[in-house]
Amino acid sequence: MIGVVGAGVTGLSLSVYLEERRADHVVLEARPRAGGVIRSSRVDGRILDYGPQRTRATPAVSEMVGLVGLEHEVVTVDSHLPLFVYRGGRLRQVPFSPGELIRTDLLSWRGKLRLLLEPLRRGPEPDETVARFLVRKFGREAYESLMGPLFGGLYGSDPADMFVRHSLAVLMDGGATGRSLLWRFLRGAFNRRTSPPAISFRDGMEAFVEAMLERVRHRVRLETPAARLKAGKNGDWILRSADGDEYQCSDVVLTLEAERAADLLEPTVPDAADRLRRLHYNDLALVHLVGECPLEGLGYQISFKESFRTRGVTWNASALKRKGIYTAFLGGSRDPDATALPDDVLKEIAAREFRVITGCRVQPLEVSRTRIPAWDRSWTALDDLSLPSGLHLCSNYESRVGLPGRLARARELAARLTRRPGDEGAETGRR
Ligand SMILES: Cc1cc2nc3c(=O)[nH]c(=O)nc-3n(C[C@H](O)[C@H](O)[C@H](O)COP(=O)(O)OP(=O)(O)OC[C@H]3O[C@@H](n4cnc5c(N)ncnc54)[C@H](O)[C@@H]3O)c2cc1C
Repeated sequence: MIGVVGAGVTGLSLSVYLEERRADHVVLEARPRAGGVIRSSRVDGRILDYGPQRTRATPAVSEMVGLVGLEHEVVTVDSHLPLFVYRGGRLRQVPFSPGELIRTDLLSWRGKLRLLLEPLRRGPEPDETVARFLVRKFGREAYESLMGPLFGGLYGSDPADMFVRHSLAVLMDGGATGRSLLWRFLRGAFNRRTSPPAISFRDGMEAFVEAMLERVRHRVRLETPAARLKAGKNGDWILRSADGDEYQCSDVVLTLEAERAADLLEPTVPDAADRLRRLHYNDLALVHLVGECPLEGLGYQISFKESFRTRGVTWNASALKRKGIYTAFLGGSRDPDATALPDDVLKEIAAREFRVITGCRVQPLEVSRTRIPAWDRSWTALDDLSLPSGLHLCSNYESRVGLPGRLARARELAARLTRRPGDEGAETGRR
């Protein structure tokens, strides 16, 4: 049997893939509901999302949508909608093509010329921070008003506190050295117009995890935290739930948050537990706003030169046709105290800053708080992490944060755990 701890999107998708491969397994989830940070609700007939607002329809995501029969519920975002950055008194469009780059007023002519020198600058160095690399490669202006807000917004982190080798590893794997990243940004993998479209679901992102749960309900035990993990006799692992049930597992996959995984690992692998406890998470506050605004686009981020407390706003109204809904994000590592503010204060800040930035009056609906792995300097703690055979981490602090990455990693792990002797590329020495 395989034990999976946590029924967020990682644990659920892993369970769906294991089920596809007819692998005996159990999923333990501490809370009464599955889905982890993915949560949606309907308020006055409007769909609100409290975690991811949308994701990308990569092959892994599309495959899962098909496996759980959710194709008819998909809402696709128009990839031609503009994305904005607020700088110098107004919203300015992010360029996604060479023509748009020439025309954009987001950067001065000087800033654009500096950006074009990019191919002449060296690629990233392993011990370089993301901020230093982006400034060196693209110039300070492009960093502060374009790359920094867009990249930092993904994690709620300050790029000055992130190492290239952790969070920009994809670029390094892709052999960025000596190649033009700008060209790739405008033409290739980073170009949203040539990459898979963004999608959500008619009833919000939670519909996705609910459909996965429906598929593997007989495997998932809700309100059943994993309480203990200990080595068994024959190289297997005994996973014990809080209600006292024990599962003898050939493999145990930990998909839960870093501190909770550390709690389980502490008695048997204290070094790994210590490393996981050192990882930072960023606290975020989401304020849902509602209003009739003549805004067409995906939303905006804020230039690092501005002093607003809002980090960015997703325009669910135009991107997902959600009647008048806008989702403001506050907090993160550049404003770590924001989430401690009372709800009324957060509502007032989000609505006021939205009005200043867009000129449109909105009413605050709800405040919620969540967290996201920071992928900052604290990730050096994972440099020498090793786990005994049969224990696996599969989570958004161990590999990519976004849903496409989560599903791809779960699929790859399910294949690896169910590989039989003689299968091509089978690991040697595994139980
Ligand atoms: C605000 C926000 C915005 C995001 N935006 C996007 C986006 O636009 N696009 C995108 O693709 N991704 C986005 N993401 C990232 C993505 O949503 C997450 O990385 C992903 O959902 C994490 O899923 P997970 O299953 O790895 O972890 P989690 O969702 O954290 O799930 C872990 C689960 O483990 C359970 N657990 C904890 N302790 C125990 C225990 N002892 N026993 C059993 N179970 C336990 C928890 O209850 C939880 O259900 C966003 C995330 C956040 C927070």
